[in-house]
Amino acid sequence: MKLQNYINGQLVEPISQNYIDNVNPATGEVYSYIPDSDERDVEKAVQAAKNAFKLWSRKSAQERSQILLNIADLIEKNLDRLALAETNDNGKPLKLSKKVDIPRAVENFRFFATAILHFASESHHQPHFLNYTTRSPLGVVGCISPWNLPLYLFTWKIAPALAAGNCVVAKPSEVTPMTAYLLSELCIQAGLPAGVLNVVHGYGNKVGSAITAHSDIKAISFTGGTKTGQEIARVAAPMFKKLSLELGGKNATLVFADCNLERTINETVTASFANQGQICLCGSRIFVERSIYDVFVEKFVERTKKLVVTDPLDEKANLGAVVSKPHYEKILSYIQLAEQEGGKILCGGTTKPIVNERCKKGYFVYPTIIIGLNAYCRTNQEEIFGPVVTIQPFDNEEEAIEYANSTQYGLAGSIWTENLTRAHRVAHAIESGILWVNCWLVRDLRTPFGGMKQSGIGREGGWEALRFFTEPKNICIQLS
Ligand code: NAD
Repeated sequence: MKLQNYINGQLVEPISQNYIDNVNPATGEVYSYIPDSDERDVEKAVQAAKNAFKLWSRKSAQERSQILLNIADLIEKNLDRLALAETNDNGKPLKLSKKVDIPRAVENFRFFATAILHFASESHHQPHFLNYTTRSPLGVVGCISPWNLPLYLFTWKIAPALAAGNCVVAKPSEVTPMTAYLLSELCIQAGLPAGVLNVVHGYGNKVGSAITAHSDIKAISFTGGTKTGQEIARVAAPMFKKLSLELGGKNATLVFADCNLERTINETVTASFANQGQICLCGSRIFVERSIYDVFVEKFVERTKKLVVTDPLDEKANLGAVVSKPHYEKILSYIQLAEQEGGKILCGGTTKPIVNERCKKGYFVYPTIIIGLNAYCRTNQEEIFGPVVTIQPFDNEEEAIEYANSTQYGLAGSIWTENLTRAHRVAHAIESGILWVNCWLVRDLRTPFGGMKQSGIGREGGWEALRFFTEPKNICIQLS
């Protein structure tokens, strides 16, 4: 199967006529081909988006909302097909795609399709003057997304951009392009006018960089690695583009002796290994108060060993394949590094899980737990982004906070304690954009989402996203 770009309302071949192999990571087999597009395809997409902007930006919020709701309905109707496509592309368990990834894509469209109906701007009164602020769409915007939650994160950007009246040139990850392609088909069915959304497939250093550098693209909303974010900022900042950068993380899980231990074990195992540990919000560094360290480690290992690593199509799978061969090799190299740094592997490691005949060439990694490392070694400082966690003891709250804040990242974290005062105190002290207390990955789409330090700039979600995708203008009128 050959995927196509979606430009000016049409599904089209890349101008180069070249394609990239698309591999199913659970089988290691090439199963489709991705357009190897370049700056010429991006140029066509930008021209289409510029033309479409005149019409789309003048539509009423209700009209735009209705079309986005149609898209949401079509994603929902095609849930099974999209979930299977996501799993074949990414390696994640099918039940996860069905329960989380695709439903969230539906929610993203519904949330922003309705949010725009309530999006209001401010006015400020002075004795003889009235200020009112308008918020207009920016024009053509670029949305670039990663492979870990493909349709979920792609739509998390596109939906607010379109709702606010912008036209979009979007690039999904070349590692997981399939559901973005299927979305293009659904957008045509939903009656999205030609050129409003354009999807250009291909490599980051061709398509992504052409989007970033294009002078008619007014803003870039990017989710991906910190290094890529730096490169995008380097090119876009001198052009004064608006930038929203959602980057890497190395999230801390802080477990205090006064936590509800059973519940903490249950939830922190999920927070460590969900989606093969490939969620930017997964807790990869666990710090446990020394008095419960041994019992925590024992129970955590026991629970982790019950997780089933198998064919993602199997209902029993808790973990499927990791996303690609290079990523598989990167994860294994970090497990080896942890051993070199003096870490002791309590379960998992570099031994390849035997899955089944279909998956014998797939990229599977056992959930891996490492102890015996200090908080400052490379294993504990660099993002691995796989099913690998480390566990370290701490002696007091100050030490726990210091460890949590010791990396260059500041995306998310979780705190486990029954002491409410401590929960607030520690949450305030941690340098992260998102913190959960006695829970993990509970999402309310109205809340600001994003990181500090090297985890990015800007926030997504709710009004933050709609403000990002609009330009405020203040008009001051003399009243008397
Ligand atoms: P990546 O940075 O390699 O790629 C992300 C996207 O950027 C892809 O579409 C890629 O093709 C494109 N790209 C690559 N080079 C580019 C360039 N020079 N110019 C423009 N675009 C370019 O990241 P990845 O490996 O796909 O994703 C994993 C990373 O994403 C991890 O670091 C993870 O923490 C991060 N992530 C962050 C969040 C968040 O919300 N903060 C969410 C999910 C993933």
